[in-house]
Amino acid sequence: MSVLLTDALEVGLADLTPRELQALHAATFVTVGDVLQRVPRRYEDRRTTKPVESLLNGETVSLPVHVYSAGWRFAGKRYYEVSCGAQGEPYGARLVLRWFNMPYVAKLLAVGMNISVYGKVKEYGGKLTMTNPDFEVLEDEEAGLRLVELAMGACPGALPDAAEAVRVHTGRIVPIYRGISGMATRRFRRLVWSLLQLLPADVPPPGYDVAPTYPFAEALHDLHFPASPEAARKARLRFALAECFVQQFKVAWRRRRSQARRGRVNVTTDGYLQELLASLPFKLTTAQARCVAEIRADMASPHQMNRLLQGDVGSGKTLVALCAMLLAVESGGTAAMIAPTQILAEQHFNNFRRLLAGTDVRLSLRTADRAEDLGYVPDDPAAADDTPRLLVGTHALLYKKSRPRNLVLAVVDEQHKFGVAQREKFVAGGDCPDVLVMTATPIPRTLTLTLYGDLDVSVIDELPANRGEIITALRNPNNMKRIISFMKGELEAGRQIYIVAPLIEQSESREQAAATDEFEKWKGIFPHEPIGLLHGRLTPEEKDAVMAAFRANETHILVATTVVEVGVDVPNATVMIINDADAFGLSQLHQLRGRIGRGQHKSYCILLSTAKPGEPGREKLDVLCRTLNGFEIAEEDFRLRGPGDVLGTAQSGLGAVQFAEWLSDMRLIHRAGRDAAAVLDADPELQQPRHAVLRALVAPEVEQGVTA
Ligand code: ADP
Ligand code: MG
Repeated sequence: MSVLLTDALEVGLADLTPRELQALHAATFVTVGDVLQRVPRRYEDRRTTKPVESLLNGETVSLPVHVYSAGWRFAGKRYYEVSCGAQGEPYGARLVLRWFNMPYVAKLLAVGMNISVYGKVKEYGGKLTMTNPDFEVLEDEEAGLRLVELAMGACPGALPDAAEAVRVHTGRIVPIYRGISGMATRRFRRLVWSLLQLLPADVPPPGYDVAPTYPFAEALHDLHFPASPEAARKARLRFALAECFVQQFKVAWRRRRSQARRGRVNVTTDGYLQELLASLPFKLTTAQARCVAEIRADMASPHQMNRLLQGDVGSGKTLVALCAMLLAVESGGTAAMIAPTQILAEQHFNNFRRLLAGTDVRLSLRTADRAEDLGYVPDDPAAADDTPRLLVGTHALLYKKSRPRNLVLAVVDEQHKFGVAQREKFVAGGDCPDVLVMTATPIPRTLTLTLYGDLDVSVIDELPANRGEIITALRNPNNMKRIISFMKGELEAGRQIYIVAPLIEQSESREQAAATDEFEKWKGIFPHEPIGLLHGRLTPEEKDAVMAAFRANETHILVATTVVEVGVDVPNATVMIINDADAFGLSQLHQLRGRIGRGQHKSYCILLSTAKPGEPGREKLDVLCRTLNGFEIAEEDFRLRGPGDVLGTAQSGLGAVQFAEWLSDMRLIHRAGRDAAAVLDADPELQQPRHAVLRALVAPEVEQGVTA
C-alpha cells in the first residue's frame, strides 16, 4: 500500500504515461495506497445486457459485440463509426457506435475485434446507435494490437487465440470517481484495477484492523469493483467502521482517562444558588432545574465532571452555567467561563454583575484588552488572585497572566468555536477541575456521540414560557418597500431591529465594507432613527459601546455582520433582516434568528433571497421557515451539508471524513464504540504490539499532558 506509484511503474506493475503520473502527483496521489483508497463517488450498474437484435430505443445497456466495419465519417463533424453485431452473425442485426472528438478510439478498435460497449441506445434514421459509448476490447491485449496494426496496413502475422480479457469498464458494476484533472476516468479506473490485481491477499489495512474476518484486500476489491450492490455496501461499511472507530477510540480513551482522575468533592449548602434563584423574576424551567441537579450531583462526586450542556438558542444555558459556577465558588474555588468573543464575554460579565448584585460573590473579567475585578477589598490586592471568585473571559484565560488560579469549575461557552486543544488547555490550568461545555446550537444525536462521546450530556429541551412567537418569512429583496413599511411599524411600537449584512467569507475588511454600505443605505432609509454598526474590525471598546447602546435602546437598528451570531441577548429586538440569506449555513441562520424572540413580543425573521425552489441554498431557507426546533434544524443541516461543514472540520476534530454519510448511522457508531471499549478493556495501557497503531493515535494527547 505504501509502495510509490513511480516504483510500481518502474517494475511494470502499472501502466501510466508521464503526463498521467504528473496529474496524479498533482492531485496528491503518491502511493499505491493513495490510489486504492480513493473512494468511488458512486457506482454505475452496467450489468444489464441483451442481444443486439432485441435492443430497444432509449435503453441503457452493456453488451458484448463483434466489430464488422469501422472508419471515419463526416456529417458536419468528423467522427469515428463502428458497425457491430453478434459474433458469427455477419448478416445479423447491427448496432452503430459513433465517437465524436475522441480520435484515440480509432487507434484502439479494428474490424474483427470483440468488444464490450456500454451506453444509451438511440434510433437515428432507422438505425440503432450509441454515441460516445464507454467500451473495452475483449481480446487479450496483444491480439487486439495486432488487429489494429492489421487494419492500419501492417503485414499480417499469426493471431494468437483470443482469450477473453476481464472487463473493467463494462458489463459489471463500475466505479465512478471524482474527476482528476489531466487523467481520463477510464484510465484511473484501469489503474485501480491493475493495482488491485497485484495487492497481496493478506495486505494489512492502515491503522487498526476493525474487521479481521473480512480481509482488507477483499474489501478494497469490493469497494472498487463490487460484484453486487450488497458487496459495495459491505465494503463501505468496513471503511466507515474504520473511520468511526478512530473517533470512538479517541473518545473512549479520553473518557477512561478522565474517569480515572479523581476530582474534587464540592459539597455545598447551595447558599449562593438559593439566593440567586430567589432574586430572579422567573423560575427555572423544569429542564433547567434538571440540568442543574445533574451538574450538582457530578460536582459533588469524587470524579471529575465532564459534561456537555446542550440546548436550543434562548433555552437559558447561561443561567444553568451560572448556577454551577455559584456552587463552585461556594465550595471555595474559582469558577471560570471562557467565551469565544469579547462581546460575549462582556455580556456574560455584565449579566452576572446584575444578577449577583445583592451578593458578596467576587466577579472578574479577563479579555485581551480588559481586566476588571468586582467585589474586592481595595486594600487587599494580594488576595485578589487566589480568592474564590467567578471569572469570565475570552482566550485571554488561556495565557499565563490571566490563567485562573484555584480553578475548580471550567465552563466553555459556545464550545464549537473552540478547538479541542484550546478546551484542554483551559481545563489543564486547574487541578482536575470539573468541566462543563456548552454548545450554541443543538447537534444531531449521532454527532454528539461521535464527537462528545467522552462527555455526559444534559439537554435543556424546553424554552422558557414567556417567549413571544417567532415568524420566519422568505422575501425577495425586490419587495423592500413593504418590508420597510413593516419595519417602520415595529419601530413605532418601540421595538428594535437587527440587520445582518451579506456574508463575505475570509475577508474581514470586505465584510466591513459590506456592513458599512448596508449601514449607509439604512441611514438613508430611516434618517431619523439612531442606527448602530457592528463588525469584526471594531476595537473591543467600540464593539462594547455599540452593543451597550443597542441594549440600552439608544440605537433602534443594529446593522451587523455575523459577530452578532453568538449569544447576544437583547429581548426588545423583535425584527431580524438577513441579507443574502442563502449564503449562510442553516445552523448559522438558526443561531442568528435566536437573537430575536427573546422577550414577550412577537418577533419576525425576514430572510432576503432570490433563490427559487430547487436552486442551491433554497432548501435550507424553507427548513428555517418551517420549524423553530433547533434539534430538527441540526438534523437537516447535517443531512444537507454533512458533519464536517456543520461544525467546521478543523474544530470538530473530524478531519477529512470520507464516509460521512455513515456518521448518521447509530448502529455503526455504537458498534465502533463497543469495539473501542473492548480493546481498552483487554489492554488498558495499549501495550500489546498489535495495539501500537492505537497508541500512536492517542500519543499526541499523552504528550500534551492532556490525559496524563
Ligand atoms: P442561550 O441558551 O441561548 O445561551 P441565554 O442563556 O442567553 O440562552 O438565555 C436567554 C434569555 O432567557 C436570557 O435573557 C435569560 O435571562 C432568559 N432566561 C433564562 N432562563 C429563563 C427562565 N427559566 N425563564 C425566563 N427567562 C429565562
Ligand atoms: Mg448562550
